[in-house]
Amino acid sequence: MYNVNQTHDPDRQSWVESANADDTDFPIQNLPFCVIEQGSDRSIGVGIGDQVLNIKLAAGVGMLSDDLVEAVVQPSMNAIMGMTLKQREKLRREIGDLLDKNTKANRAELEAALVPMALAKYRVPCTIRDYSDFYASVYHATNVGSMFRPDNPLLPNWKHIPIGYHGRASSIVVSGHEVRRPAGQKAPTNDGMIPNVSPSKLLDYELEVGFYVGRGNQLGKTISIENAEDHLFGMTLVNDWSARDLQKWEYQPLGPFLGKSFATTVSPWVVTMEALAPFRCAEFERPEGDPVPLDYLASSENSRNGGVDLNLEVHISTMQMRELGMATEKLSGTSFRNMYWTIAQMLTHHASNGCNLQTGDLMASGTVSGPERSERGCLLELTWNGDANNPLPGTQRSLLTMPTGEERKFLGDEDEVSLFGYCVNEKYRRIGFGECTGIIKPAAE
Ligand code: MN
Repeated sequence: MYNVNQTHDPDRQSWVESANADDTDFPIQNLPFCVIEQGSDRSIGVGIGDQVLNIKLAAGVGMLSDDLVEAVVQPSMNAIMGMTLKQREKLRREIGDLLDKNTKANRAELEAALVPMALAKYRVPCTIRDYSDFYASVYHATNVGSMFRPDNPLLPNWKHIPIGYHGRASSIVVSGHEVRRPAGQKAPTNDGMIPNVSPSKLLDYELEVGFYVGRGNQLGKTISIENAEDHLFGMTLVNDWSARDLQKWEYQPLGPFLGKSFATTVSPWVVTMEALAPFRCAEFERPEGDPVPLDYLASSENSRNGGVDLNLEVHISTMQMRELGMATEKLSGTSFRNMYWTIAQMLTHHASNGCNLQTGDLMASGTVSGPERSERGCLLELTWNGDANNPLPGTQRSLLTMPTGEERKFLGDEDEVSLFGYCVNEKYRRIGFGECTGIIKPAAE
């Protein structure tokens, strides 16, 4: 696990002025990676203020050490994700020195390698060969479970195993990509007991945090909880779009399938584990009477620093809101520190059967919800599946009302959902995760 070092110094400033603003997601203490496309050319970039530094161009004019060049000039991030920890630290240090207010590098050459974020065209940051999604929030699992099993919301395994399923890597898209409303089989509603196929009516988002594998493990080998974080490269925002009507009909006995695999959106930015060092926190405090994690999922370091104090928000805007120039509506907000299982526990569990994790694999946490109603990370929970017997506080209704008066139980066509994440505390500079956005398009004819 990374310690705080001089790259986190809160007094450090950049010659890119916008990076010194108090509320920027991308001060010099963050330095998240992305992949941008310019013409037919893809390059790895680093976020700084409202700019992206094209590090392929910077490396091309000799600004990075020779042993780093081969990895940073690739069109995707896998090679830097697979670097040793020492190399990664060196890369972060060198990029920070280039962007420092007192840089010794040639400013004109660096400025030529900047692209304004507003004009940047982002790509999925790496080749993701496998994607797994967990279910690690006790609040989310309890809420969803109690809708379907009021007396028995959590199944007996839940507090012993970080529950997960294998998602679909091929349909992962980057923020800004349209999401087509899926059609599929739904439970029979007629007396004939014949299921019907039609566009999903219960389309939902899931507010999640993703984490990318750095160096993997060989098939047949495991990853100890003590070493788990050394196998992680960084974190990102994930929206696990979910068609609840398809999911409800198909999920038993093998779990989610087509209700999830039509699209998953990731934010363009990968915030490194090193950048997150000042924002680590203790793991979730399990209520008295809960089982302690089995030995392979427990370590003192994981107990002390396994959590991440990452604030998360979901916003929505409907087409009507955008046409009227209205601001987005915040639907919920919570912190990733509310997760029952840590990222190290999820990764260690994933490899505990000898399953080989590979560089660039994506894992996501599952919907992040907190204890309060305002902290629920999907519409299914927020509207309690539209249940009128479970109204929103201060109202008679369970449906959400937009500032235009439009009502939502689930997502409508042209609704745009945006996820945000940021870390803040008194001692260090605020860092952010940027935005993870998707807009719902009508189902295909
Ligand atoms: Mn999910």
